[in-house]
This record gives sequence, C-alpha cells and structure tokens, in this order.
Amino acid sequence: MPCLFGTNGVRGVTNDDMHVELALNLGRAIGTFFAGDIAIGTDTRTSNEMLKQAVVAGVTSTGCDVFDAGLVPSPVLQYYVRQHDLAAGVIITASHNPPQFNGIKVVAGDGTELGTETEEQIEGIYFSQTWTISAWHDVGVVQSVAAIGGYLEGVTAAVDVAAIAEKQFTVVADCGNGAGCVVYPYLLRQLGCRVITLNAQPDGTFPGRNAEPVEENVGDLVSLMQSSDADLGVAYDGDADRAIFVDENGGYVSGDKTLAITAAHAVAEHGGIVVTPVSTSSCVEEMVNQKGGIVHYTQVGSPIVARKMIEVDATFGGEENGGLIFPGHQYCRDGGMATAALLEIMALRDMPLSALAAEVPSYALVKTKVSCPHEEKQAILQAFIDAEEGEVDTTDGAKVMFDDAWVLVRPSGTEPIIRVYVEATEPSRAEELAERYRNRIAELVG
Ligand code: MG
Repeated sequence: MPCLFGTNGVRGVTNDDMHVELALNLGRAIGTFFAGDIAIGTDTRTSNEMLKQAVVAGVTSTGCDVFDAGLVPSPVLQYYVRQHDLAAGVIITASHNPPQFNGIKVVAGDGTELGTETEEQIEGIYFSQTWTISAWHDVGVVQSVAAIGGYLEGVTAAVDVAAIAEKQFTVVADCGNGAGCVVYPYLLRQLGCRVITLNAQPDGTFPGRNAEPVEENVGDLVSLMQSSDADLGVAYDGDADRAIFVDENGGYVSGDKTLAITAAHAVAEHGGIVVTPVSTSSCVEEMVNQKGGIVHYTQVGSPIVARKMIEVDATFGGEENGGLIFPGHQYCRDGGMATAALLEIMALRDMPLSALAAEVPSYALVKTKVSCPHEEKQAILQAFIDAEEGEVDTTDGAKVMFDDAWVLVRPSGTEPIIRVYVEATEPSRAEELAERYRNRIAELVG
C-alpha cells in the first residue's frame, strides 16, 4: 500500500503533492472512519483556506458535522477536541516546514496524534475509495467555534498563576508569524507577564524567520534578549506545539536542556516515569535519576512518546526539539503549556533560566550521516547490529552504549541516508566515535 501519512501526518508542497483532490478524498476517508463530530483548525499558511475547504467538503459529504476553530495552534485544537468529546480533529499545518509546504494532521478523540495503525486504516479507505456518501438530508453542517478561551483556562488552571505573576516577568515571545500569534502573547499576559512580541503578525510567507525554532533561526530573539532586560525569550514553530527558550542573557537553551529541567521538576514533585525517544541527550536521564525518577525510551516520534506516556502513566515526557508533553494538561506537545510551565519553575525555584540550565550536564553531540539506497537501509542496519560486539539497544535503529558515550545508528524514514548520532562527555571522544561508526556504516554500504 502506498504511504500517505509520514512521520508528521500528510505533508507536501502545495498544489504539487498537497492538492485539493487529496484534501477532499482524505476528508471523505476521515469522515468515514470516525463517523462523528470533527473539529478543524489551521496554522497561518497561505494555502490553508484552500485545503481546509476541501477537507471540510469531504468530511461533511460523509454526514459528519464540522466545528471550525479557524487559525489556532495545534495544541489549542487538540485541547478543544478532547474537552468537547469530539470524534477527531484535523489540523491544516506543515509545522516547521518552509512556506511552500502544507499538511493535514489528524488527531484522535483524546487529542493525541494518531498512531500508525489508525493512519493505515484511514489510508485503506482513501486508496480503496470506499467512503461513506450520506443521503442529502444527512450531509454534515459546519459551524465556527471559539477554541482559544477554553485552552487559556486549561493552561492557567494547570500552573501556579499567582507565583508567576508575583515575579512580574518580562517575556519576549517570537511567534515566527505562525499560529502562536493568536494565543500565546495573551496567555503570557494572563500569567501576569509583561510581553514583548517578535514576528507576531500571522503571515504564511514567514517573513520574520524560518518556521523551525532552531538556533540558527532565532538570532533576532537572541539579540533582543541581549539588549533588553527581559527574563525569558521563547520561539515557537509554525503550529506552535514546540517551544525553544533563550535565557535572560541571550543564551540559547537547547531543547534537551529544557526537557531535562522540566522533567526533573515534574519528577521532584510527583516521582515516576519520564518518556523520551532514544535520540534524547543523556542529560535528561541523569537529571531525572537524580530526582529519583526513571526514564523509558521509545522510538522517535511525538505520537509514540505520547502513547507510551499513557501506557505507563508517566509523570512527564517530550522530545529534544522543544516538544514537551504535560500529562496533567493533555497528551500532546504544547508550546503554550511549555512556556507557562517553565515560568512556573523559574518562579517557584526563584532562579533565572541561565541558572536552571547550568544545573544540567552538558554533553557533546555529533550528527553525521551515510548515503544508502532506501531498499538497503534495513539490511545494512541488521548487518551492523549482527557485527557489533556488546549490547545494542534496538528500540529505534541501533543504539550502542559506552561508559562515556552512546552511538545511535538510525535509517532515515524519508531520505536515502543512515544517520549516525554520537553523544559523549568529551567533544574529542564524540568526534572519534562519529568517525569510527560513520566509516563502519560506509563499509557496510560498500
Ligand atoms: Mg509543530
């Protein structure tokens, strides 16, 4: 069967692989599969309305009613779906991808991103075109709904607003012209913060910066933090489920470190399990262990992390890319909740972010890759595992553990490459292992 859903929903270039016919038929398949009320929302991309109208036409043709939340961050729509007991949600977004991309992400009735099995069932309906066609009197209706108010109530109920407000923090929010614009500056104000916004006008051409909040894209935020007396800087991706932070001195704080800070705080308060993918820095496990908690590792992918969290009743979970999941709030990445939670930690511990980040051990990370044809990737991985002496963790790819380092060999899901990630306490050791394992994989590829 052809694979419509990738690691992040259905995604592609607008009017090339992401076209109206696909959106219409996917809408039909989604309506047929869920056969209930469906919420829909979008980020700020230029093709959102076109794709949304097509999905809505497909969904309503199967007899499902649609609740249109308009422009909202993904976590706001996810919260709405769960809060209102809907059958499912659809988000038109390509998250952090460049502006020519768009996508269709489907979430389950509990607000979680769909698992692979459910996606395959929807794909089955899509490709076989076995969708429901409702009678004329059963065609679904569409109504606009306000999803933001309920979300703001949810986040402000989940943190100690009085403690945050008492600090009178100044926060610079770089919304990246994405969906965060319409919610997060207002959330920060409700938390009693003084808010300075950056790139806070919704614009799907992303004029301010690239939509992915990685260090090379948030230079303006770093400069503003250096030249102002603000306490915290935060940058969101296009659909605002990921949040990356900059400290009061303009220091970029990696997603691993934020995950370590928030996970350790959650475990210190509630104990228990933290769930994160095998690619996450060991600094998270070290911090969590210090507080008496344990880490469960999963395959890479936020839906997998969220599902494992539900299964093991985890205290906390997340990814190294700024995607943090707060189970008391909802089981999905949430940039607004991440911001509120970090401010709460700064307030309760009475420490600036630079000091919180300084508590987290630093490791050297080297990322490299080897070209490998798609069809050979699994065989190469297996040959590597068979030849490797000592213990290999095969949760996702192959992770080789050393006393002072780990090596993760992982075929890319989408590109003809095998990735080699190395983390070590010493940079020279990371370089040495990266070189050794890169060569080993290259030899196997031949
Ligand atoms: Mg995203």
